[in-house]
Formats: sequence, structure tokens, C-alpha cells
Amino acid sequence: MEEIPFWQEKSLAEMTADEWESLCDGCGKCCLIKLEDEDSGEILFTDVACKLLDRQNCRCGDYARRRHLVPDCVVLTADTVGSLAFMPETCAYRLLSEGQDLYWWHPLVSGDPDSVHTAGMSVRGRTVCESSVPDAELEDHIVKWPR
Ligand code: SF4
Ligand code: SF4
Repeated sequence: MEEIPFWQEKSLAEMTADEWESLCDGCGKCCLIKLEDEDSGEILFTDVACKLLDRQNCRCGDYARRRHLVPDCVVLTADTVGSLAFMPETCAYRLLSEGQDLYWWHPLVSGDPDSVHTAGMSVRGRTVCESSVPDAELEDHIVKWPR
């Protein structure tokens, strides 16, 4: 009989720490600077990446100390992920919290850690670092592709 993968069998709250971490597909989209439309409240992504993001492998450059180095970095939990409107629709945590399954390109499904990149679902090759963009120019960097 075919084994049911843990992300289909368990709720987010039931997962072990390792299972929880493995859900991150490494897209890096949540590490982009976001702006909020003052009128509509809509969250707008930019192609400007957090200074700690390794923009090639799309992973945090200092995951263990991220909260210390970037105080507004949001740490996801099973309780909060469903209410975080700024998470991209493709985020594995958001998908599962909304009752959807993972996409074929998710490394847990494909078995290939690079599939998120080769499928064009990550930020690789599409960002600039926040240290090179003045705040006044962030609006010029608004993009739709992270959605
Ligand atoms: S958007 Fe979700 S899946 Fe992508 S890097 Fe962030 S936490 Fe991981
Ligand atoms: S500190 Fe790390 S995890 Fe947090 S937004 Fe920056 S790169 Fe992403």
C-alpha cells in the first residue's frame, strides 16, 4: 500500500520540527520587501530582497540569528501562518493551511531541491538587495510575479 506523505496525513500543528522545516520549499519569496497600498490595504511585493537573503540559493544567510539581525523577520507557526496575508499563494505553509496540496515542483514532492528554481517558482536571479535600494525607490520595484 502506498504510504501517505506526512503533509497530507498531519495537520501543521501535528508536525515535528523537522517536518515543519522541510515544508519550506526555499522559494525565498517571503524574504522580499513588501509595501502596503494605503488605500486598499493590498500587500504589494517588490523584487527587493532582505539583506540577509542569499539571493542565489534563496535561503536565509543566518537562519539561527535572523530574529536578532532582522527584528521584523516573521517566524511562522502553525497558529499564525493562516492569517499572514503577505505570504505568497505558492508558499507550502499557506497552501496546507488552506487545505491545498503541494505543487509538483516542491522538493518534497519532486525529490529534487532544485526543482523550485528550475520551475521558475523561486526568487533566484530576479532580485536586488535592499542595501542597494533607497526607501524612496522601493515603489519602483513593485512586481507581480511573487504572487
Ligand atoms: S514563502 Fe513559504 S515556502 Fe517560500 S521560502 Fe518563505 S516560508 Fe518557505
Ligand atoms: S532574516 Fe532571513 S528569513 Fe528573515 S526575511 Fe531576511 S532572509 Fe528571510
